[in-house]
Amino acid sequence: MSNITVCARFRPLSSKEKRDHGANICIQSVDSESFIIKDEKDEGFTFSFDKVFYEKSKQADVYEFLVLPIVRDSLNAINGTIIAYGQTGAGKTYSMEGLNILESDEEKKGILPRVVDGLFACIRSSDESTKYSIKLSMVEIYMEKVRDLFDLSKDNIQIKESKTQGILLSGATEISLLDPSEALQSLSSGIANRAVGETQMNMASSRSHCLYMFTVHQESTIEKRVKFGKLVLVDLAGSEKVEKTGAEGRILEEAKTINKSLSALGNVINALTRGSLAKANHIPYRDSKLTRILQDSLGGSSRTALLCCCSPSPSNVSESLSSLRFGARAK
Ligand code: ADP
Ligand code: MG
Repeated sequence: MSNITVCARFRPLSSKEKRDHGANICIQSVDSESFIIKDEKDEGFTFSFDKVFYEKSKQADVYEFLVLPIVRDSLNAINGTIIAYGQTGAGKTYSMEGLNILESDEEKKGILPRVVDGLFACIRSSDESTKYSIKLSMVEIYMEKVRDLFDLSKDNIQIKESKTQGILLSGATEISLLDPSEALQSLSSGIANRAVGETQMNMASSRSHCLYMFTVHQESTIEKRVKFGKLVLVDLAGSEKVEKTGAEGRILEEAKTINKSLSALGNVINALTRGSLAKANHIPYRDSKLTRILQDSLGGSSRTALLCCCSPSPSNVSESLSSLRFGARAK
């Protein structure tokens, strides 16, 4: 189904990887859509995606290929989701935010600041008969509890469904975005709050899913009709397997919960991909908070982009293979 675009992205080797393995990488590019990855036993596996972003790829390339079409559609009241998947340290947050959400270096800007610029640019160039307004909510899902990142006291947001507006986060703060710089300030305060909450709870950000939800309202002064499109960006919890023997207590519970929600996401995407073959397929949205929130922005007429973030180092090859298989299953 062409409503799902899947890409792989390899970040450059980290200094630690270079220290441990020199300049060795386990991937070999075939073309801009395929590559071969060699596992620990030197067995090669070929993967093909809609596009592969290698180490030298630019933030702008990722945005233009994977995200911009979805941003444009959100202004036509088509919902969309952009998901970053991968083990901790693979480049999900770098892809989404950039080194810093307030990054001024144009080249390093991540998807989020580009989405903000893109939304406002499209609105500026639209004709006068349509009035737009953009709202932003930010939530974090940790241990199947949804927390408002604009108001940490709201730590158990309920998910509701409305006939007119679809899936709603009941009582979650919605900030009206009036211009790009204000929008970035709001994103930045949500991200800062996330760190505060994590310190309070002694939790690592890599163990929770972070959702940035833009709602674009559009009012046509001619048709007197209000439409809206939702654009959800998801920086997922790290997909790495936790050592079964060493982990216990909360670490093990966290790992199980993350594993469950990531499999639920995989199952929903697979059910959607197969949807054209078996229409009456049951799509298991209710299996996790993550898929429940994404219910009306995954599937149907909505558009989905999945970015599988990987390290190119031989030391991380088993996690990279597992992320790439997750992506391959989504096609
Ligand atoms: P994750 O969010 O998946 O845990 P990060 O995005 O925090 O991983 O990336 C881990 C480290 O690698 C960070 O220091 C980040 O700046 C760096 N990094 C990730 N992707 C890239 C990239 N494409 N180019 C340069 N540095 C990157
Ligand atoms: Mg991260």
